[in-house]
Amino acid sequence: MAQFSESVSELIGQLAKLPGIGRKSAERLTYYLLRIEAGEALKLADAIRAVKERVQYCRSCYHLAETSLCAICQDPQRDASQLCVVEQPRDLLQLEQAGVYRGHYHVLLGRIAPLESIGPDQLTIEQLVDRVRCGTYREVIMATNPNVEGDGTALYISNLLAEFPVQLTRLARGITSGSVLEFTNKEVLADAISGRQKI
Ligand SMILES: [Zn+2]
Repeated sequence: MAQFSESVSELIGQLAKLPGIGRKSAERLTYYLLRIEAGEALKLADAIRAVKERVQYCRSCYHLAETSLCAICQDPQRDASQLCVVEQPRDLLQLEQAGVYRGHYHVLLGRIAPLESIGPDQLTIEQLVDRVRCGTYREVIMATNPNVEGDGTALYISNLLAEFPVQLTRLARGITSGSVLEFTNKEVLADAISGRQKI
């Protein structure tokens, strides 16, 4: 059987590690990259290098940022009395696109998932509690995903925040139980925010 050269095999192997890309797709992408002009292919390499070198987590909310504070945390127009807790940066982006929320965010960088051995210590929960303790927040909106792990995470955090004088709310159940925020459409998300309920 014919073998790929070492560098071609390496590229196929690296691409095949990406989520949703199987071996066949990795081979197809590799052929594509071999076929196009070097300058064009290297733009991909440069883009990967740039995000890995420049992008960091915001030191306040843990959203992706290219400066120590993200654009949302730096924006004086945002409502500093509301804090919305999400699992991932992509959930935050989804809520931003819905365009109905003007407060601050806190990104957990995951959810509590005992089956995958992900506990509270691996998330940014301690930092969240600190923000609520020191901040100006009057309301904390739990916008974790409406599935078993997201609900469990919200419950865990609600218990920790119970001692602070903040109102705890949860996104309305317009979002189908078991669904994932990042795939929920804008209108449903906007309804879920405006119809949020006290925990
Ligand atoms: Zn931020």
